[in-house]
Amino acid sequence: MNIQMLIGGQEAAAQSGARFVRRNPISGEAVTQAPAASTADACRAADAAAAALPAWAALGPTERRLLLLRAADALERRMADFTDAMAGETGATAGWAGFNVRLAAGILREAASMTTQVGGEVIPSDKPGCLAMAVRKPAGVCLGIAPWNAPVILGVRAVAMPLACGNTVVLKASELCPRTHQLIGAALQDAGLPAGVINVVTNAPADAAEVVSALIAHPAVRRINFTGSTRVGRIIAQQCAGLFKPALLELGGKAPFLVLADADLNEAVNAAAFGAFMNQGQICMSTERIVVDEAVADEFVRRLAEKAASLPAGDPREAVVLGSVISAEAADHVMALIDDAVTQGATLRSQPERQGCILKATVLDHVKPGMRIYAEESFGPVVTVVRVRGDEEAIRVANDTEYDLAAAVFSRDIARALKVAERIQSGICHINGATVHDEAQMPFGGVKDSGWGRFGGRSAMAEFTDLRWITVETQPGHYPF
Ligand code: NAD
Repeated sequence: MNIQMLIGGQEAAAQSGARFVRRNPISGEAVTQAPAASTADACRAADAAAAALPAWAALGPTERRLLLLRAADALERRMADFTDAMAGETGATAGWAGFNVRLAAGILREAASMTTQVGGEVIPSDKPGCLAMAVRKPAGVCLGIAPWNAPVILGVRAVAMPLACGNTVVLKASELCPRTHQLIGAALQDAGLPAGVINVVTNAPADAAEVVSALIAHPAVRRINFTGSTRVGRIIAQQCAGLFKPALLELGGKAPFLVLADADLNEAVNAAAFGAFMNQGQICMSTERIVVDEAVADEFVRRLAEKAASLPAGDPREAVVLGSVISAEAADHVMALIDDAVTQGATLRSQPERQGCILKATVLDHVKPGMRIYAEESFGPVVTVVRVRGDEEAIRVANDTEYDLAAAVFSRDIARALKVAERIQSGICHINGATVHDEAQMPFGGVKDSGWGRFGGRSAMAEFTDLRWITVETQPGHYPF
C-alpha cells in the first residue's frame, strides 16, 4: 500500500519524491511504500505544528475534549485497518492489534478527561495584596517518537496528553510500521482536529538520525518524548541536553518476575507465560527474568515449560498465540543469546524452534551472570530462569540489572510480597500480576537505563506543560528607593 505523510492537514509526499519500502517480516513481500522525508520535509511538519499552535492552545478545554473523544471513536472505527497494517508490517497477531487499538482509544479518552485539569493553584504570598498563582501552560510543539512493537498504544501515547495540554504535535513514525503510525494521524484527522495540530512524518531507516536531529533542533519544538531502545534514547537525551529541551524517555526493559517459595504456582505460571510470550516477548514490560526460589523451582519450571511448548507460533493471520518477530536480525539476536547461554551451561526446558522470523516460546533454565542473556534485553519469545535461595537473594538478583521498568512478585503472603516489592528498584511493580500491564490512567515509566519521566493521566501533565508563576498586585507597593 502506498501511504503519504500528514503535514498541515494535507497528505504529503517527500519533496524529492523519495520513498522507502517496508516488507512483511515473514514473506518478504513489500507491504508499505512511504515517503522518505528529508530534514526539510520534517521541518515543514514542525512549521505546520507551530502555525497551528496558537489557535489550538487557545481552544476551550471542552472543545479539545470533544475532539479527543471523537478521535478515540475514529481510532476504534479503523480497527480492521490497524489489524491489517500491524500483521503486514510487524507480524503481530489480531489479539495484539485489538488490545493496541482499545488501549490507545482509552489513552485518548483519558487525555480528553484531563483537558479541564490543566490548571494551577493560588500560592500564599508574603507580599501584602499580592495574588500569586502557579499556572500550567502548553509547552509548544511536542515531538513524539514511537517504536513498532506496540505501535498504536505508543504512537497515540506520544501525542494524546501533549494535545490535551494544548500543544500541537509531530509524530515521527517508526520505519518498521509507517502505515500503522500514519493511520493514527488519519484517525485524528477523521475526528476533525484542525489542520496542523497533528502531523506525521515518515523516513527511510538510513535517514532516522538526521531527521530526528533536525526535528529536535527545530526552534518551535519545545518537548521531545521518545519510546524506543536505550541506545537511541541515550543519543536523544544528549541532543536534547545540548539544546536545554526536556525529553521524556521510555526505554528498554529486562523485567524480573519473582516467584517466592509460598507462591500460587498456577497463577504464577499463567502470568509468567503471558508476560514472557505476549507479542513474542517484544514488549518493554515483557517478563525476561524469572527469579524463582529453589524450593518451588523444579515444579514451576516444569509447568511453565509445558505451557510454553503448547503455544502455537506461526503466521499471525492464522489462529496462533505467537506471530512473527520483527525481523530476521531480531530472530538471529534471540538465537545467539540462547546459544551463548547454552554453551555456558544453561538448560533448555522447551526447544527454540525457528522458521525464518517465527520462533517458538522458549524457557531457558539455570541462567547465570556472565551469560549475555542474563543482562541483555532479548526482546523475543525466550524467558530466563534464575534459581535463588530465599527472598534476600531474589531481591538482589532482581536489582542486578541496568534496566528497571516493570517487575512482578508472586507470594500468597501479601505483606511479605509488599516488603519485597518495596525493595525492587523498578518504576512499576505488580504483586501477583503479570509484568505486562498498562492502563491509560496509571503512571508509566522506568528508572535507571529504562528512562525517565512518566506517561499516563495526571502524571503526564507536568511533562507537557510549563508551570508559570503569575502575580497580580492589588495595592500600591513599598519599594526601598
Ligand atoms: P529503536 O530505538 O531502534 O527505534 C526507535 C526510534 O528511534 C525509531 O523511530 C527510529 O527511527 C529512531 N532512531 C533510530 N536510530 C536513531 C538515531 N541514531 N538517532 C535518532 N533516532 C533514531 O527502538 P525499536 O527497536 O523500534 O523499539 C524497541 C525498543 O523499544 C526496545 O528496547 C523496547 O524495550 C523499547 N520500548 C520501550 C517502551 C517503554 O515504554 N519503556 C515501550 C516499547 C518499547
